[in-house]
Amino acid sequence: MTSCYGGTCLTPTTGAAPMTFATALQYFAAAQCLLPREPLPEAQVNDDDDFDFIVVGAGSAGSVVASRLSENPNWNILLLEAGGDAPLESDIPGLEGALFGTEYDWHYLTVNDGVTSQALINGSVGWNRGKMFGGCSSINGMIYLKGDDQIFQTWYNLGNKEWSVDQVRKYFKKAENLQNQEMLKNPTISDQYGHSGPLVINKFNSTYSDYIQNVIDSWDEIGFRRVNDLNIENFMASGTVTATAADGIRQGTDKAYLEPAANRPNLKILKKTLVSKIVIDNLKASGVEVEKDGKKIKLKASREVVLSAGTIESPKLLMLSGIGPAKHLQDNDITCLVDSPMVGQNLQDHCLVPIIIYGNEPKETDPTDMYHSHIDYLAYRKGLLSHSDLVTDALSVYTTETNTTYSNVQNILSILPKNLDTIKDTFMSAFRYNESVVDSIVELNKDYGTYFFLFSILKPYSSGNISLSSSDPKDKPLIFPNYFKDPRDLAVAAAGIKMATKILDTDYFKSIGGFLGRMNVPECDQFELDSEDYWKCISKNLVTTIFHPVRTSQMGQCISSSVVDSRLRVHGVKNLRIIDAGVLPTTVNGNLNAVIIMIGERGSDLIKEDHKNEEF
Ligand SMILES: Cc1cc2nc3c(=O)[nH]c(=O)nc-3n(C[C@H](O)[C@H](O)[C@H](O)COP(=O)(O)OP(=O)(O)OC[C@H]3O[C@@H](n4cnc5c(N)ncnc54)[C@H](O)[C@@H]3O)c2cc1C
Repeated sequence: MTSCYGGTCLTPTTGAAPMTFATALQYFAAAQCLLPREPLPEAQVNDDDDFDFIVVGAGSAGSVVASRLSENPNWNILLLEAGGDAPLESDIPGLEGALFGTEYDWHYLTVNDGVTSQALINGSVGWNRGKMFGGCSSINGMIYLKGDDQIFQTWYNLGNKEWSVDQVRKYFKKAENLQNQEMLKNPTISDQYGHSGPLVINKFNSTYSDYIQNVIDSWDEIGFRRVNDLNIENFMASGTVTATAADGIRQGTDKAYLEPAANRPNLKILKKTLVSKIVIDNLKASGVEVEKDGKKIKLKASREVVLSAGTIESPKLLMLSGIGPAKHLQDNDITCLVDSPMVGQNLQDHCLVPIIIYGNEPKETDPTDMYHSHIDYLAYRKGLLSHSDLVTDALSVYTTETNTTYSNVQNILSILPKNLDTIKDTFMSAFRYNESVVDSIVELNKDYGTYFFLFSILKPYSSGNISLSSSDPKDKPLIFPNYFKDPRDLAVAAAGIKMATKILDTDYFKSIGGFLGRMNVPECDQFELDSEDYWKCISKNLVTTIFHPVRTSQMGQCISSSVVDSRLRVHGVKNLRIIDAGVLPTTVNGNLNAVIIMIGERGSDLIKEDHKNEEF
């Protein structure tokens, strides 16, 4: 088949056969229109227009908040989003990576600290973030993992009384609509999920299933038990994940929450609108300043402004509006209205260190199979495009600590068939590894199938911060993730990776001649492959992100240690709340999206409760 490409077909024809085949191809090309996506309606607003609530950012949390608040027909809601409608590529799980670096991505870069991530381009980590309706839920890996009840108990124990395990579980269920038939048949699993919420969750229509099962068998062999549902059993466990994808299509919060609410007369939505400042009068938020189509206007909120701009932009907006560490505001010529020292602090992320194992499987993919698989997607939403192009749905969680029942590390499996032509681009664009590192991986991949385990630390000790680079709202802030600043994290990484590489001694990996390849990081050449020192060196030099930054607007009891209270109201300013990934009191040992959507649900009800007795 490959030999036909570019050649001429010499067989005589009446024209009927080519016409038939051309029509079939046209049908499949047109089938992309079957992916349902209507642009969200956009409102017209004028300078000084007044609303009850203004929600800033239509991401994982903001879409939930705008949708839930607009359930009250007496409230007028304005939702402001810096991006626009998510493109077709967002709907197709296998094109996640194609969104990176486009206009749909804020594409932040961390500040080079001269110590970590030195084998990445310019020593800085790419923090991709969705800039569109759905925010990061429209660009993420779609893994739906909620994390452990022990975390939410900690939140409660820290004095955040609205966040007991029971409340948190109730709001997860409020969001969820589990549609996987196998899971629904099992009452133990089915009972743990909601069934009538807006957020459809299911399993991916996966493709590499034989290889995935072999890896899960191997994990099981080294003590990471195979379980039916990682949302229920998440300690020393492995399996396939539930996903915010159904029937081969991504389920972002734009689709789940905004599309059904978009035509409500009391919900107005503005696209491509950058909020540049919160207007604060007498320590009370009264609206926002925005820039749209090159014009600056003010919009008023009589009840509340809700910031859902995410871990990076929400603290930036607070600081631009005069709420933040006084000295830092002064340094940027911003008048300090509220000295709130923790704004932008406590930044934590789940970092990523690559573990790469090579072997005699999977063999090279025939391009014909790939094209068949794409047709399969158009016709049946199956095949390669029906799951993320960056990772598979197989994952393990385990601990490096003793006397605990809490998983503090995670491996997500990615499978790269032998001699994959996209491997170089993927490693350079998604992970920003410099060319010599990537070339060492590409060289081995020419001859061997590649199992890439995305190892990450779920309970980091290190924390960083976000600060302003200037007082211009269009300038990106400075991001200091401080990975491995606390040496305990390096010890956890080395121990966790050593536990993971035991997989080389399992039946399957022995059968395919599995081995670790050296990555070209000269600083690590002095260390024996797979030794603790080697992994510490690799971790330090190759650390990047699984895109889970949190806590820069942390919830807590007082302004000296947190930014919002447990009802998510900003300390020191009235009528201003934050509802997004920034408010987490501690990070979680799940992946973030589920938790942020839950926070959107819980936060919306806190607002409703707080305004319950007001006259309309
Ligand atoms: C590449 C990637 C992969 C990921 N994979 C997973 C995964 O598989 N599973 C998982 O659980 N989690 C994953 N995550 C993390 C998860 O998706 C995020 O933690 C979560 O979506 C954050 O939600 P949020 O509401 O806090 O912010 P966001 O979803 O980022 O929403 C913020 C919104 O505010 C808008 N905005 C920002 N500033 C302004 C402004 N000034 N004016 C107007 N609008 C503004 C943004 O454009 C955005 O739409 C991933 C994230 C990324 C980026």
